[in-house]
Amino acid sequence: MPTRRNDRRSKPEYQVKIAKERINILMNEAMAAQKENPEMSKRYFILAKKIGMRYNVLIPGNKKRKFCKKCFSFLSEGWRFKGGQARVTCKNCGQSMRYPYKPFRSKKKNKRTEHR
Ligand SMILES: [Zn+2]
Repeated sequence: MPTRRNDRRSKPEYQVKIAKERINILMNEAMAAQKENPEMSKRYFILAKKIGMRYNVLIPGNKKRKFCKKCFSFLSEGWRFKGGQARVTCKNCGQSMRYPYKPFRSKKKNKRTEHR
């Protein structure tokens, strides 16, 4: 039996589905717009975030990481990969973020992985 609280929190499945689609579209737009129109890109990302919050849908991690969590600008450069961690510093606001990072197909023993 779902409690009343759970009822209120979870949205109907069809709405969640639409929300996911919208987030996907918005994130694609945000990535496409970042070069020519960074302000629009920010706006798309914020919209995607808001939809995600309303419908309890997460933005896919690989896309979310491309944007600064403080000022929402696109993080095109400043990535450093070291010891299972990716670090990035936002060039707009200086916020630095860390993410766990698995070297891509690293079954061979690479002592240094400087690039992705
Ligand atoms: Zn920033």
